[in-house]
Amino acid sequence: MKVPFLNLKAVNERYQQELLEACERVIKSGWYINGPEVEAFEKEFANYCGAAACVGVANGLDALRLTLSAWKVQGLLQDQDEVIVPGNTFIATVLAITDNNLKPVFAEPDPDSFLITSDTVKSVITDKSRVIIPVHLYGQLVDMPPLLELARQHQLLVLEDSAQAHGAGQMSKRAGSFGHAAAFSFYPGKNLGALGDAGAVTTNDQQLAEVIRALGNYGSQQKYIHQLQGWNSRLDAIQAAMLRVKLRYLESDIQIRRSIAQRYLSEITNPLITLPYSAEPANHVWHLFVIKADERSKLQQWLSDHDIETLVHYPCAPHKQQAYKDYADLSRPVTEMLQHQVLSLPIDPTMTDTQINWVIEQCNKNSLQMVSCCD
Ligand SMILES: *Cc1c(COP(=O)(O)O)cnc(C)c1O
Repeated sequence: MKVPFLNLKAVNERYQQELLEACERVIKSGWYINGPEVEAFEKEFANYCGAAACVGVANGLDALRLTLSAWKVQGLLQDQDEVIVPGNTFIATVLAITDNNLKPVFAEPDPDSFLITSDTVKSVITDKSRVIIPVHLYGQLVDMPPLLELARQHQLLVLEDSAQAHGAGQMSKRAGSFGHAAAFSFYPGKNLGALGDAGAVTTNDQQLAEVIRALGNYGSQQKYIHQLQGWNSRLDAIQAAMLRVKLRYLESDIQIRRSIAQRYLSEITNPLITLPYSAEPANHVWHLFVIKADERSKLQQWLSDHDIETLVHYPCAPHKQQAYKDYADLSRPVTEMLQHQVLSLPIDPTMTDTQINWVIEQCNKNSLQMVSCCD
């Protein structure tokens, strides 16, 4: 029994016919960048998230980068202003900050939910803080009401990094509709994945949306008239067409992810494994199912020996990376502890019951228990 971490080919094969039809529609339309297909996706995705506007861009990193850059254009941010970001995020969140000449300030996650909280953010606020980027890590919403209240008190902008959390929340209040803006990635492995790179910003602020759109289009709103020094970050029509097909199935995929997560949560009983904590199941879309184990590498080896592929999200926090060696002396104990404990189990909407059973069985009888036992 082989269990891949994520079988992308199988994920997309489920919609093969519709994807082919959508491709054909784009080929025949003659519009390959922006255009009607992108506009239709932007409307549908904004509507799904419960946001007033959506701007398609080239990828998730650009969605973050363009939003911070647009706030600089609007005079809301200046070089070296501080941006609060979770210590345990994927490095893209931090790259978007430093690329804009802003200063990342790392807040600790809660060790059970893996998410920043209003308390951990509060403890790093200074008079130079201007933005908070809550990351809905692994598919779970950060507890937004107290965070938004804290942001309001300190007049901070809130940019949700929703790259892992498409659909987290309930009906009209989903990730992407809480902050001043939100960044999404449609990298193929995300819960809503294109067949290549793609991303989007959602916001209720139409003016912000216009600046982001201009920045991603050479700083231009009108052909050959450039009011800003922008760059090129647009959404391809073919990716928008793929995403329109897959958006229709996102809710049912989320339900499948939830049912797999539910089985793991109730059936993995090995005391050496700590299961992920979720206060509100509707706020979790299980992009990743992340467990903790003190003997992570042994557990990972055991699972690998039994043909179960697992990954670590993430083995090295941004402030401990060579790319950010100026931060090497910074201490973030919770973040640093988690990077040695976390392990992501396969959670893929095309997993079979037999595969799910196998993962549960192997987690429950992993060798750690045998090693640490007396006989
Ligand atoms: C994937 C991801 C990004 C970056 O998205 P890309 O489309 O790969 O540029 C940013 N933040 C988080 C939390 C992510 O998981």
